[in-house]
Amino acid sequence: MLKNNILIIEDDKSINDLISSLLKDEYTVYQAFTAKEGLSLVSSNTIDVIILDLGLPDLDGIDVIIKIRKSMTTPIIVVSARNFESDIVKALDLGADDYLIKPFRNNELKSRVKIAIRHSISNNIINFDMTFKYMNFKIDYDKALVYVDNKLIPITSNEYRILAILTKNAGKVLTYDYILKAIWGPNAGESNSSLRVHMANIRRKIEVNPADPQFIITHVGIGYSFNL
Ligand code: CA
Repeated sequence: MLKNNILIIEDDKSINDLISSLLKDEYTVYQAFTAKEGLSLVSSNTIDVIILDLGLPDLDGIDVIIKIRKSMTTPIIVVSARNFESDIVKALDLGADDYLIKPFRNNELKSRVKIAIRHSISNNIINFDMTFKYMNFKIDYDKALVYVDNKLIPITSNEYRILAILTKNAGKVLTYDYILKAIWGPNAGESNSSLRVHMANIRRKIEVNPADPQFIITHVGIGYSFNL
């Protein structure tokens, strides 16, 4: 079977080598130590997932995302030090798909890469499909209906719109700001707390145990993602 290609853009050689050693059995790994090297590898190879450090010596990781997103939808997992939530939010709003906070657990890295690859595959499928299914959850975009265990779930139009945007981006972390703007427009003045209220209502309706959600994952201080 053909291996998926992973590109690591990270200037810290020990971290770059560590990530590479964790992934190289399962994937073909390309290593870049500068933004310039990374961008040149992206344009000359078919890359399936990019793991990007935000603190690079020659160019800010944020600018790397902007450059890549001008022409490519390749999933980008941002790697950042702790306490840089605002950088992560910025990276996600500019088109990064997911993030890892250093130091991360080895298994966490592997599972994020797996999700990103599934996300890049399902991107293509969802565009042609009018329904999205995950475990016992189903959403019908054509009729704007939501089902759990094949039972119709009564939801409001805002709840449906939140679920639609999360499932259409399943596996990708959407920031509070992104969701608020997408649902209520840029000037609606809705706050994170009203989004939290909607999310609590949605979870009560679709989750078996809203305190331990299977479908919608909370990223504290950052946003939400739909599980994949
Ligand atoms: Ca760095």
